[in-house]
Amino acid sequence: MFEDISQVVNFCEKEGIKIIDFKVVDLAGRWHHLSIPVERFNEKILEDGIGFDGSSYGFLSVEKSDMIFKPDIRTGFIDPFCEVPTLSMIADIYQITDKNERFQSDPRYIAEKAERYLKKTGIADEYIIGPEFEFYVFDHISFINKNNHQEVYIDTEQAYWNNGNKNYQNLGYKVEFQKGYHVDLPKDITNDFRSKITRQLEDLGISVKYHHHEVGGSGQVEIETQFGRLREMADKTLILKYVVKNLAIQEGKTVTFMPKPLYGEAGSGMHVHMQLFKDGKPVFYDEKGYSGLSETALYYIGGILKHAPALLAFTNPSTNSYKRLVPGYEAPVSICFATANRSSVIRIPGYAKKPEKKRFEFRPSDATANPYLAFSALLLAGIDGIINKIDPVKEGYGPYDVNIFDLPEEERNKIKSLPKSLDEAADALERDYEFLLAGGVFTKELITDHIRRIREDARKINIIPHPMEYRLYY
Ligand code: GLN
Ligand code: MG
Ligand code: MG
Ligand code: MG
Repeated sequence: MFEDISQVVNFCEKEGIKIIDFKVVDLAGRWHHLSIPVERFNEKILEDGIGFDGSSYGFLSVEKSDMIFKPDIRTGFIDPFCEVPTLSMIADIYQITDKNERFQSDPRYIAEKAERYLKKTGIADEYIIGPEFEFYVFDHISFINKNNHQEVYIDTEQAYWNNGNKNYQNLGYKVEFQKGYHVDLPKDITNDFRSKITRQLEDLGISVKYHHHEVGGSGQVEIETQFGRLREMADKTLILKYVVKNLAIQEGKTVTFMPKPLYGEAGSGMHVHMQLFKDGKPVFYDEKGYSGLSETALYYIGGILKHAPALLAFTNPSTNSYKRLVPGYEAPVSICFATANRSSVIRIPGYAKKPEKKRFEFRPSDATANPYLAFSALLLAGIDGIINKIDPVKEGYGPYDVNIFDLPEEERNKIKSLPKSLDEAADALERDYEFLLAGGVFTKELITDHIRRIREDARKINIIPHPMEYRLYY
């Protein structure tokens, strides 16, 4: 939004801004924030930055946890959720040295380095991505907090009926389990909520492609935005989640992007569509190729499928992620590619036929990912596939243009499976991370910190008795 500090100062005066707020992304992909009075915002803040404790952001392997952040004024936006007029901006992390250099493991910097590395390889000059956002809308936090947890985890149906929402009860217009896809009013009770989100996002410069009810009958919805560049789309992912959650609170609702909040209902994914352009021309298109894809596109897919188990540590970094990646819910479980097949890791949409629209989507990812790291890791896996000419057909990854679950068992057993738990994904990343270090994009320290973080989560879940264990073993 701004190019220099005088523009910011003038804007603040004109708009009566009183507070400047800084958003800084942590290792897990969540924003932290800090605010200052507008009077304190000056050239010095841009030069010297603001000090903070990096270890609280998950960056444990830096020698000294003292770090600074400096705002990226281009990202400024009026925060719609603050009563006191506030201008928010995303900030970059720096390490304290003589020259205060960019912190090599700052997720935002990793995204920038990934974009630069792509150009350097000469493969393409633009990486365009389109994430899709699925999430559940609930009416009361009590749905999760006050209800017996056992109901939420095991008896979704019971929890659903107990969901205290007057709109759901007694009117007769109920969305059935797993039958919510594009359902219309009056059953679609969150339509206006989604339209409000859409208007808010448009005001913040995030163009929405569309919004709709999703398959999950207990309140699952989806918003898709227009495609954009890597770092830009990762910034927008965090802004979108911020808007969705804060608007929900204003409406007396609560939303969750967790991948599998309800047993027996559809999980929520964050599919990522990918395209490469060189001198404005689509690199992935070849009219004669399989499904209209070029050889380069197939190698890119080959790289992603080869590294899929390790990638999942970044694209699916929660224990809950693996409760979504199970058969029967349009979520992928097998490492393969196909046209229009929703059980595969890579799906080539059949309706995107024009050269400049040609693309494929990575389906495993979910919104518990740090978007900067997940989008960058996908690109690096693709580049690795292109450089090493990894042919997905020769490697036995497909194409499988049938429902994988309909294949004879013998045939199906030949297809490799995605990791079944967060620990398995961490194991895979420990074995396979060299491709992420290419071009100095990821750092070994960041990968170590990340593995430590997800292993801690896995351990927390592993040592707590699960409600279902009472049924099985009491
Ligand atoms: N919710 C499904 C998933 O978990 C996707 C459903 C769809 O978009 N067709 O990925
Ligand atoms: Mg979609
Ligand atoms: Mg969807
Ligand atoms: Mg999709």
